[in-house]
Amino acid sequence: MDHQPYIPGLSPADPGPLSRFIPALEEGVISHWLPHHTQAGNWLLDPFGFAPRLTLEAARAGYRVLVTVNNPIARFLLEMSANPPLESDFKAALAELETAKKGDERLGAHLQSLYLTTCEKCGKEIQAQSFLWRKGEESPYARVYTCPHCEDSGERVVTQNDIDRAKKIAATDGLHRSRAFERVVTLKDEDRIYAEEAIEHYLPRPLYFLTTVINRLDGLNLSPERKRALHAMILVACDAGNTLWGYPSERLRPKQLTIPNQFREHNLWTMLERGLSLWTETGSSVVMEAWPRKIPESGGVCVYEGRLKELAHEVKKEIPIAAVIGSVPRPNQAFWTLSALWAGWLWGREAVEPYKVALRRRRYDWAWNATALHATFSHLFELLPLGTPFFGLLPEPEPSFLTSALTAANAAGFDLKSIALRTEHDPVQIVWARGEHLKRETNEPNVDDARVAIYAHLMERGEPVSYLHAHAAALIALTESHALKQKDQEFDQALRAIQSVIQRALTEDERFVHYSTGESVDTGLWGLATVTLSPSASLRINFTKGLYQDGRDSSVALKELPQNDIIESLSDRVEVAIVTFLQKNPDSIYLEIEDDLYPRFPGLLTPSKAMIYAVLDSYAGKDKSAWKLRAEDVASARRNELNTINALIEAVGKRLKYSTRKDEKNLLWEEAGKTQYVFYVLASALVGRAILETPFPPEQTIIVIPGGRAALASYKAQRDPALAARMKQYRMVKYRLLRTLLEVPFLARETFEEQITSDPLEKSKAQMIMF
Ligand SMILES: [Zn+2]
Repeated sequence: MDHQPYIPGLSPADPGPLSRFIPALEEGVISHWLPHHTQAGNWLLDPFGFAPRLTLEAARAGYRVLVTVNNPIARFLLEMSANPPLESDFKAALAELETAKKGDERLGAHLQSLYLTTCEKCGKEIQAQSFLWRKGEESPYARVYTCPHCEDSGERVVTQNDIDRAKKIAATDGLHRSRAFERVVTLKDEDRIYAEEAIEHYLPRPLYFLTTVINRLDGLNLSPERKRALHAMILVACDAGNTLWGYPSERLRPKQLTIPNQFREHNLWTMLERGLSLWTETGSSVVMEAWPRKIPESGGVCVYEGRLKELAHEVKKEIPIAAVIGSVPRPNQAFWTLSALWAGWLWGREAVEPYKVALRRRRYDWAWNATALHATFSHLFELLPLGTPFFGLLPEPEPSFLTSALTAANAAGFDLKSIALRTEHDPVQIVWARGEHLKRETNEPNVDDARVAIYAHLMERGEPVSYLHAHAAALIALTESHALKQKDQEFDQALRAIQSVIQRALTEDERFVHYSTGESVDTGLWGLATVTLSPSASLRINFTKGLYQDGRDSSVALKELPQNDIIESLSDRVEVAIVTFLQKNPDSIYLEIEDDLYPRFPGLLTPSKAMIYAVLDSYAGKDKSAWKLRAEDVASARRNELNTINALIEAVGKRLKYSTRKDEKNLLWEEAGKTQYVFYVLASALVGRAILETPFPPEQTIIVIPGGRAALASYKAQRDPALAARMKQYRMVKYRLLRTLLEVPFLARETFEEQITSDPLEKSKAQMIMF
């Protein structure tokens, strides 16, 4: 398999509405991929309809995108992002709501009064930004505000008034609660209980707020555009109003409807207003039509509200699909259940009907996910011509999600072409192609195949990897040997078998080391026992023997590996590549650096942003958005400084009565022809390489690096426990220490040992970032 480089993109400036449920994707990725695979104007299919920005980016790049959307909320998000109402419509709609009458009062004033609280400092009545609750209690324990009068701000203990206000609203809760579920299902509906359960995730005050606003919806005299704008703002309030806002550790992306032990109750009036800014910050509008109306060749979105199954036959007849794109969905009980609820609140029971199953289902596991994905892939297989590419993004990747997606696609006849994986925090980029129409042989998953693949990846990487990376390497091998799922096997069986094979490959082999504080296989990092320590190729070959326990020759499987003696770590290679690039291309922006780097480290080797920034921060400075090597890090300056440092070492040695000799890479302090100390001077942070190269014993060796590299060296040690262990055996000093030593009036051999450990690398750890 020829893995593609990771396509870099930009994180969107604003996350947009309902962002904690919508996949977090980078912008610019799909518009980069598409032109390499099909011409603008062609038809694309997004069978998941769950990532509005992805769909719109493809449409804006000049493609016609057919999207199937089953979830009414996802459909609304897509429609709103394609054609947001004008800001003036949002404002007018909100003003209309605010000035509507509620008894003698204005509705806006009434709703805001629900959140009144007394400023602790100046005693004035003000709006709370939020109240803080403990699960199961009848009143909040704290309030959060910023007083507009005296600027007192922060979290304060609740007053009796706050408690009374919450209890007063709770007293009439039954009525509002039944109103709320009757908009979703009828009293007689067998799904009523599920709707009631879902509504349990709303406290009385937000529920009162939302039902009051929603009951007014039909009575307001609004144009269709303004009504749409109001719906959009209410949707944001619907999400802000549930109890899935953990405090203080916000559960950023909830998947399950579970109430956190402490949570935040937002002021929903301010959330309505916030909705206004969230929705109006979307890009240029895009032509959007409902199936079967056609869209122009210049691009746009055609929406089919329903399942791919119902559409597949017609699409095959009428529309030639050139490529499939989509963010592969993972189970999200919270979003799916709430979507059914919100659809009912906003548009009534008929809108929920086709989606009502989401209310009923409680448990979604990975086997369920694989079965559902398999159904989609199977419909796609039927309607796509042979070889049609499918660019899939897998957000929030975790091992089981990856297994589920690869198994489902493979079982439906899609061939895996490429996987590019950066970290477990970035979407995985997967390319499939619609395969041949033939009965495939399937094999049992083989522990040896998984073992060889993980071994090869670790050798290629030259440093420990996350479990996700090891898992992905093994999955690719199992895909290639057609061993993901047997004929007639259920997905839960197949998924369990794969999991067990990969975990056995890792845990039943002494060549793999687990760096982890936990017991579980999928935590921490996995590395190779000792092989990267060894500079000898022959040792490495011995080490690869017996990878296949059935006696097969593993050197055949490993022939792709680098054949030099020393396996350099990925972080060392990335450091060299970035510095080389910046030498040749000063004033490059970050994306240009990624563009150069990722093709050099494709597939599972994709370096993380943190790694790239660690190198940049060490070597370069940023002027506006352009990166440039620091004056002292330009090659010629570094060479001069190396000469100076060499002279310094010689001078210090002289004062300590050692003679200095230079060999190929080291400076040796000798006495009576015997080596006492060895200095290995680096201009870089390639400490791993230095340790592999220097033939002298660690207790004699001192590695000298520029102070500007200390943070980078510490970063590497932090992310690579094997390197950290090796570094611990050596003394490492910064250039500046040698300068200081030369100034010391009394320099003696007795105190030298102590002096060289007085300025450790860890001092620069303050600015560390992980991954
Ligand atoms: Zn105040």
